[in-house]
Amino acid sequence: MASPVPSVLDMSTQAFPTLTEAQISRVRAVGKVRQVTPGEILFRPGDTSVPFFVLLSGALEIVQPDVSGERQIVKHGPGHFTGEMTMISGQRCLVLGRVTEAGDVIELSGEGLRSLITRDAELSEIFMRAFILRRVELIKHGYGAAILLGSRYSAKTLELREFLTRNGHPYTYVDLDLDRTSQSLLDRFEVQRDEVPVVICPSHGVLRNPTIQKLAENLGFNNRVDETQVRDLIIVGAGPSGLAAAVYGASEGLDVLVIETGYPGGQAGSSSKIENYLGFPVGVSGQELATRALTQAEKFGANMMIACNVVRLDCARRPFKVVLDNGKALSARTIVIATGAQYNKPPIPNLKKFEGQGVYYGATYMEGQLCEAEDAVVVGGGNSAGQAAVFLSQTASKVHMLVRSGQLSDTMSRYLIQRIEQNPAIDLHYKTEITDMDGGNHLERVTWRDANAQTTVRDIRHVFIMAGASPRTDWLRGCVALDDKGFILTGPDVDTAPEPVERSAAGPPQMLETSLPGVFAVGDVRSGNVKRVASAVGEGSIAISLVHRALAQL
Ligand SMILES: Cc1cc2nc3c(=O)[nH]c(=O)nc-3n(C[C@H](O)[C@H](O)[C@H](O)COP(=O)(O)OP(=O)(O)OC[C@H]3O[C@@H](n4cnc5c(N)ncnc54)[C@H](O)[C@@H]3O)c2cc1C
Repeated sequence: MASPVPSVLDMSTQAFPTLTEAQISRVRAVGKVRQVTPGEILFRPGDTSVPFFVLLSGALEIVQPDVSGERQIVKHGPGHFTGEMTMISGQRCLVLGRVTEAGDVIELSGEGLRSLITRDAELSEIFMRAFILRRVELIKHGYGAAILLGSRYSAKTLELREFLTRNGHPYTYVDLDLDRTSQSLLDRFEVQRDEVPVVICPSHGVLRNPTIQKLAENLGFNNRVDETQVRDLIIVGAGPSGLAAAVYGASEGLDVLVIETGYPGGQAGSSSKIENYLGFPVGVSGQELATRALTQAEKFGANMMIACNVVRLDCARRPFKVVLDNGKALSARTIVIATGAQYNKPPIPNLKKFEGQGVYYGATYMEGQLCEAEDAVVVGGGNSAGQAAVFLSQTASKVHMLVRSGQLSDTMSRYLIQRIEQNPAIDLHYKTEITDMDGGNHLERVTWRDANAQTTVRDIRHVFIMAGASPRTDWLRGCVALDDKGFILTGPDVDTAPEPVERSAAGPPQMLETSLPGVFAVGDVRSGNVKRVASAVGEGSIAISLVHRALAQL
């Protein structure tokens, strides 16, 4: 087999391997061989249902069309194969593939490829590794079909960047506050300043100040989802517990759909580094963990719906119906609720006004960059506040950690307490609370009051609120029993419900089963949960064996 054609990307053999004759023959057995001619376009950005190609002879270039022409990404030769993560997720294609030398290719549908991956362990490893590494390269070089024009001072820009980044979607970001040439780009697309942020997708035009739902729709995030299908299982929420349920459910042959209101990863996705999750001795960022889990779930065939909020469970009849905020309803025989918890917002004046413009609820790499060489405040005394303070102290000049009580939380890990106390860049302020926030479009000043009722005013532009979380269960009232704080009761705890619960003829609920047979709750949303990634993942995995049992009884 010929050696690979050089590439403009990092041409590591793992990202762009050359298949052996034996491996090619296994693809040939399930695909069809056809001739291709120079200039022929095999796929373009925005295409759906893109086939997978293995080159037997000839050459193919992969390019990224952008507003100023084309950027070449890679050249494929004999033994090479096309594709990256969109082959697995079924989302719209990001790049253009053009034949540069006549030859033969094996063509295989996306469905055929996914089926081959589940059957052939060796090819699965080669393809999955290459797709993941290629996606990483696309992100690293900003080779996405989408260009986001925004401002570092705009909350909406941060929201869109966070959405694209946390969904692992490559894009080019142009900061209009820093890039003086960008005005010509705005003029070219007839965009007014007040329509910023703007997302330019070469194949879908210009989105002005889009919602994340609109952006997801235009980028084809939910393309593969058949909304009419009655599924074995719908999982609501793609935090660690929901993703674990998706991996186990899909790998064990269930027909699984995961619905997520924002982006995969949940609370864990907003953690800069998780150090107590088994198997990661040097820690793993929440986002990396979420991306890996999502890839794994999709590899086994789980379907994802992103940027879709579940607002109601129609539990009166079977199959259950999960109703979205756009009015659509999706059906399933069993449901796993994995909606976790949402950040508490302390009653601080102007908090809402500065959300995304100086007030943040997560401390990831992106927020870390925003407060480089500036002072920052972290509010809270628990694990997430501790992690955020340590992480931000690497870039911020000083981190003020404001703790309402007289000590750090009893549940904070010992290693974290030591790192905070010994860190010269972190100042701990006990019995201290923010009383005011002030500024123009962006937060500029913070006022706090300490135990001696002494007030301090500081010119600080970044505040991280890590004040615990409450369950997201309003949409379930009337369907499943909740405890007095709104967490979902499961198993024998259902008997402790503050309001009377209708007894099921099917007998007492199983562990993790709610008061409604066939509906399960896992992770932080469950009454009695322990607020850890590992326990959320454990519960999501265990729930699948109970789902099998429930399906067998239907
Ligand atoms: C900053 C931070 C750092 C942390 N660090 C650690 C750590 O180091 N180690 C550790 O063990 N734990 C840590 N935790 C705790 C850990 O992240 C949580 O215990 C874990 O994420 C819970 O997982 P979950 O899947 O149950 O819920 P979540 O992570 O809360 O995920 C729930 C998901 O459901 C979605 N959702 C909610 N409502 C709906 C709806 N109606 N429709 C559709 N989707 C919905 C949400 O958008 C979210 O993505 C940390 C938490 C935070 C906030």
